Amino acid sequence: MRFAAFTVDVDRDVNQPCAGKACAMSKEGEGQGAPRFTSSAEGLKEIVDVLNDLDVRATFFFEGRTALEISKRVDLPSLMRGHEVACHGFDHEDMTGEKTGVRPKDEDLDDILARSGSTVRELFGIDRPGFRAPYQATDQRLQDALLAKDFRYESSMTEPLLDGKVRPFMHSNGLVQVPIASGTDRKGRKIVAYLWPMHEGKRVPQDYLDLLSQFEDGLFVMATHTWHMVENFCEGMMAEEERLRQSDGVREIIERAMDEGIEFIRIDDYLEEHHGGSC
Ligand SMILES: [Zn+2]
Repeated sequence: MRFAAFTVDVDRDVNQPCAGKACAMSKEGEGQGAPRFTSSAEGLKEIVDVLNDLDVRATFFFEGRTALEISKRVDLPSLMRGHEVACHGFDHEDMTGEKTGVRPKDEDLDDILARSGSTVRELFGIDRPGFRAPYQATDQRLQDALLAKDFRYESSMTEPLLDGKVRPFMHSNGLVQVPIASGTDRKGRKIVAYLWPMHEGKRVPQDYLDLLSQFEDGLFVMATHTWHMVENFCEGMMAEEERLRQSDGVREIIERAMDEGIEFIRIDDYLEEHHGGSC
C-alpha cells in the first residue's frame, strides 16, 4: 500500500543555528536575530487551511516556545483538531552539536526533552508525542533519551527509496524511526521530500511528484515548515502573490498524489494500523 504522511515543523521564523548557543535565532529579525514567530503563525493557518480543504490529516512537530508564543494569539487546540501534534525541541536546540558546536550535556538534553514534551502535552492534552530533531540532527544518545522519556517515535532521519519502498524501522534500542523519503529526480539529481527548495524557488511541485511516482510501498514522509509559506530564507517576506503560489504548490502536490492513489495518513495512525502498533 502507498501511504504518505504530510509533516510540518512549526518552529521560529527562518530559524538558524547560532554558533556557541544551543537554541536557534531568526534570520535578520528585530532585535538582531531574536526569535520571531509571526510568519510561523501565519503560515500555520495557511497550511491547515489547505490540508483541511483537502480533508488530509497531517502531523505537526511543534517547537515548545513557538507553540507557547502562537497560542497567545491563536486557539491552537481548535486549529489542530484532527491533526497529530508532536515535538520539535523547546528552543529549537541543536541536540548533537553538529550545527552550533555546542553539544548539550546529558542533563540539559533530558531537560530539553522534558520541557518539549510537557509543553505539547499540556497545551494539546496528548499522551505520547512523536519527535523530530531540529535540523534533523540526531544520534544514538538522543535516541536513547527519547526512548527513556517515552516518546512514541522519532522522525529525524532521511532514507532513500529502495526498490520503490521506504517505511518506518526500529533502531536496535527499540525506538521507531519514521524517515523522510529521498531519491532522485528526472535528471538523476538527489531530491529529499522536504519542500524547502520549492519554497525558495529552486524546485517545482512536479519534482516531488516525480519522486512520488517512484514510490511503490510503505510510508512516504514529506516535510515542510510553516514560516516558509510566508517568508523566504533568501529574499525575506513574500508578496501576496508569492504566498498564494506556495499554497498552490502544496495543494498541487497533495491533490495530485491523491489522484495517483496515495493515501495520506498521520504518522501515529500509520504506526498503529500498519506497523503492528509496535510503538
Ligand atoms: Zn526546525
